[in-house]
Amino acid sequence: MPPSASDSDSLLLWRPPAGSLPDGAWFGMTTRRGGHSQGPYASFNVGLGVGDEEAAVAANRAVLRAALGYPEKTPALLHQVHGDTLVRPTKTPVKADGFLLRGEDPWVAVATADCAPVAIVARDGKRGALLHAGWRGTVAGIAARAVKECAVEGTRARELRAVVGPCIHACCFPVGPEVARQFDPSLRRRHAGGQEAVDLPGAIRASLMEAGVPASRIHVAAECTACDAEHFFSHRRDQGVTGRHWAFLHLA
Ligand SMILES: [Zn+2]
Repeated sequence: MPPSASDSDSLLLWRPPAGSLPDGAWFGMTTRRGGHSQGPYASFNVGLGVGDEEAAVAANRAVLRAALGYPEKTPALLHQVHGDTLVRPTKTPVKADGFLLRGEDPWVAVATADCAPVAIVARDGKRGALLHAGWRGTVAGIAARAVKECAVEGTRARELRAVVGPCIHACCFPVGPEVARQFDPSLRRRHAGGQEAVDLPGAIRASLMEAGVPASRIHVAAECTACDAEHFFSHRRDQGVTGRHWAFLHLA
């Protein structure tokens, strides 16, 4: 992500390139810029229960709500468990890692700090899904499951567009052999440290393609959350003491 020329104290949202999703679908993710949190949470942490001051998190969430204009106090959220379950938006978080969405649903968000936020939207912009996908959820097949659920709702895979947002890339994701062996050899890299590394966004793209989404309709963000400490929190880089981003999907 190129450094922004704007005031470094103002809210900065990551957005995918124009045209990567149908009109009417709003997909975006907070960066760490423009908030009230201090130390390892500086400055735009939206996660509670990660060690940050609650007042700072509340202030950050208020900034976000004012910027995006959703009427609820927070977007609908999930109790994320690194699985492959998708649910319709609920008022209180349930154990799942994806939302199945229809037009005019309330704003929803997944929380990330290295895991990938994934938006999947039908050509007409009226159906879609928002996923939280780390390596476990990816191995569990959450991306393919989302495509199947969209088919149940009446949208064929070839009519979907998808964006994989900023997440940890193979450059920063060395893993043990027990993790590496769960990925196809084409998605494994030799890391500088001698271990194998996993191409998480590549694995998600492969899963979407296997489920029938055309390669030309999948955009993978170039940003590695662990490489770009100026813009992103990274659970791996910051050894667990870090903030959380929210990635939103809203269908008009
Ligand atoms: Zn990296």
